[in-house]
Amino acid sequence: MRTGACVGVVIGLLFLTTGAASAWAACGDSGVSLQVLGSGGPFGAGRASAGYVVWIDGVSRVMVDAGGGTFVRFHEADATLADLDLLALSHFHPDHAADVPALLWPRGGELRVAGPSGSPAFPSLGDFLGGLFGPDGVFRILNNRVTLDAVTVDITADEPTDVLSEGGVRVRALGVPHGSVPAVGYRVDVGDASLAFSSDQNGSNAAFTDFVRGVDVLVVHFAGSETSTGAVTDLHARPSVWGQMATDAGVGRLVLSHVSANQDLDENVGHLRARYSGPLTIASDLLCVPVE
Ligand SMILES: [Zn+2]
Repeated sequence: MRTGACVGVVIGLLFLTTGAASAWAACGDSGVSLQVLGSGGPFGAGRASAGYVVWIDGVSRVMVDAGGGTFVRFHEADATLADLDLLALSHFHPDHAADVPALLWPRGGELRVAGPSGSPAFPSLGDFLGGLFGPDGVFRILNNRVTLDAVTVDITADEPTDVLSEGGVRVRALGVPHGSVPAVGYRVDVGDASLAFSSDQNGSNAAFTDFVRGVDVLVVHFAGSETSTGAVTDLHARPSVWGQMATDAGVGRLVLSHVSANQDLDENVGHLRARYSGPLTIASDLLCVPVE
């Protein structure tokens, strides 16, 4: 009797696990899709922090950001570490980069990693990776196992930096204004399909609007409020700023992610809607968005 009950529970769990995993893995079966790993705002609250996978014909080719919790979501999404051509990091706040060691722990071989140049207060990509995985790094256990091909994006450059051009996938990066934090946004082009990631930014760089012009999907980090004041406005764009950017750039769909928990979401979406009337998706963890 007791054994039978246990078996029933185990079978039930297996069924639930299998069913859920196959539903999530369906994101990448064909074409280009965006999967949100973490949709949470700067300080979490029930969602994983920032992270995304770009699926191309069923293969998890590109990952953007690796905030806390994305390691778990990456595996829940059925993504494959060995399939990644690129890990693109927007900046070195923990909610965008804290899970890098956890993610890379099982990885062997070579992996391209992109990220920003440094400042007195923040490491460059090279310093970040060296501090973690270099010969004297805290995770030097990985030093001989994985070879990281670092592409540092000069955040002061006027023109976008090419970070990947391989197998029909082109990824470019551009510095974005996020207070005093060196940060970059990314654009991914696969044939006619295109998507872009704003990173955290205040939306004041007109060159970024040009950079993302005409993309099918633009993921923006919706951490600011219309009523934000002080330092926050230097870090995060107001909703109306995102709306105007999406309209000016003619994006096909806007995805709101990095949604901070302490905002009035309905009110802020209303402010965005006053400037943008196109397709809109509010992200959740593991959400799959076809790019078309
Ligand atoms: Zn940030």
